[in-house]
Amino acid sequence: MTTIAFIGLGNMGNPMAANLVKAGHDVLGFDLVPENLKTARANGVTVMADAAAAVKGADVVVTMLPAGKHVLSVYEQVNGAAKKGTLFIDSSTIDVDSSRKAHALAAHAGLLALDAPVSGGVGGAAAGTLTFMCGGSAEAFAAATPMLEKMGKKIVHCGEAGAGQAAKICNNMILGVSMIAVCEGFALAEKLGLSYQALFDVASTASGQCWSLTTYCPVPGPVPTSPANNGYKPGFAASLMLKDLMLAQEAARSSGAVTPLGAEAAQLYALFNAQGGAAKDFSGIVEFLRGA
Ligand code: NAD
Repeated sequence: MTTIAFIGLGNMGNPMAANLVKAGHDVLGFDLVPENLKTARANGVTVMADAAAAVKGADVVVTMLPAGKHVLSVYEQVNGAAKKGTLFIDSSTIDVDSSRKAHALAAHAGLLALDAPVSGGVGGAAAGTLTFMCGGSAEAFAAATPMLEKMGKKIVHCGEAGAGQAAKICNNMILGVSMIAVCEGFALAEKLGLSYQALFDVASTASGQCWSLTTYCPVPGPVPTSPANNGYKPGFAASLMLKDLMLAQEAARSSGAVTPLGAEAAQLYALFNAQGGAAKDFSGIVEFLRGA
């Protein structure tokens, strides 16, 4: 049995921690929100007074926090409390630069570190079917894999420090851009009197096919399981898509990459969020694009 400290028990962290408890681990948890601690306790997590108390004596520390500043602040708080060689896994989605700083803080304190952001959402967290995209040394990846297998089903070592975050934001930038392209295709089809099903039947097996069309179709009908058939209930909220697109733009600026469509997608999602779309599924941007 491994003792695991879990910091950040929100929508994702709580079900992930619950899966570690179910797998027989001793999980010591901390969050700033009392309601989240109540849920954690009900799931079998031992609630601790603060992050440092949770980390003291833990073999592994998992963080699942909103942004880079929260991760760095927790790493700074708990650095002295962790025993040498403790493995720190950060599964939050954060900017690549902060992720690399977190790795450096850990290395300086004699700790192992892995960035391991996820895809799969709250449903995947509850079902234990998340995908983990990992960055860090081969040693950290090997040590983390048995833990990650309790929370996910696909675990990929993408490279050194920050490579997991890089893979996550590159993938989600492709997703944001491709979703907008598919939505525009359907918006144009509407104006031309072409049915959703006809466009789907052609494009899903032709050169326009992509995940945003074939698995997550943004209009009702062709893919019955897509959020379009359920009032655009997330799924993956537009607010989280905007967050990831902004992270991609930040990374493009700091690395000098040219991403004009990524920049345009970030602007369109910012407008959609500002006009009431934030809590909708990100495919709901089709309504905004057609001006509904
Ligand atoms: P959330 O806001 O529900 O949870 C974050 C938790 O961190 C909150 O409960 C908050 O109280 C806690 N927290 C903040 N600062 C803290 C501190 N200093 N000490 C202890 N706890 C602290 O967010 P979430 O939906 O669980 O997402 C967590 C991360 O996972 C984010 O980086 C998000 O981008 C990423 N993510 C979310 C989803 C999703 O579908 N929700 C999918 C993939 C990735």
